[in-house]
Amino acid sequence: MLKIGCHLSSSKGWEAMGKDALKIGANTFQFFTRNPRGSKAKALNLEDVEKLRKLMEEHHFSQIVAHAPYTLNACSSDEKIREFARQTMKDDLERMEYLPGNYYNFHPGSHVKQGAEKGICQIADLLNEILWEDQKTTVLLETMAGKGTEVGRSFEELNEILKKVDLKEKMGVCMDICHVHDGGYDIVNHLDDVLREFDCVIGLDCLKAIHLNDSKNLMGSRKDRHEKIGEGSIGLEAIERIVKHPLLKGLPFILETPNELDGYEREIRMLRAIE
Ligand code: FE
Ligand code: FE
Ligand code: ZN
Repeated sequence: MLKIGCHLSSSKGWEAMGKDALKIGANTFQFFTRNPRGSKAKALNLEDVEKLRKLMEEHHFSQIVAHAPYTLNACSSDEKIREFARQTMKDDLERMEYLPGNYYNFHPGSHVKQGAEKGICQIADLLNEILWEDQKTTVLLETMAGKGTEVGRSFEELNEILKKVDLKEKMGVCMDICHVHDGGYDIVNHLDDVLREFDCVIGLDCLKAIHLNDSKNLMGSRKDRHEKIGEGSIGLEAIERIVKHPLLKGLPFILETPNELDGYEREIRMLRAIE
């Protein structure tokens, strides 16, 4: 059974997200661990988390994805900003232990004027400080479109980070389809080649989740603006090939398309029908 869901709001609590997911035919979902703009996360309601854990077990959910606030920057030139990212991510990972066996996805960061190499070292350093041996969460680096000075614009950059992490078995990659397309990978016409390249550079065993988005812009535009499934420059046929690809089939697919719940429900139904 296809593992598919979408990004959900956590404002009503954790169990409520599980119920929303069920309502729209999802068996996975993604959520922000805290308000991406604000800093403080609400105190964790353990009863609520336990209810979600039970719901997920009962309904055979796949792994879910907690997404770090996208405002964090693990490779800022400002040590205070890096320290904030470190504290926030560490706190998030400790919380995720109450829902063991899931994913924590983050944007590697923007090196600003430091250069990608320096940025890569800072990101790996931060990970080496916050990962621990018996943590139950796998941390995912998201593939980025490469706007501005984003680190993670190529498979090579992600691999450079992974190589420097000591507890590499706690790490993985989340491939954002809009981002790789905008970053210049031709997933529309040459999906097999792109996957082969990913396998050569990083290794497909590191690929743990897919952000399934169409794109408002052309391949290589380095823009990062998501579009509804089938309404952008990637198109429904290419997205069908992705969802049905034997090398991707078992992964959780998370929609981050510009939709409300009803729109997500339609997209999930459509993608389940073609599977
Ligand atoms: Fe993201
Ligand atoms: Fe994404
Ligand atoms: Zn994006």
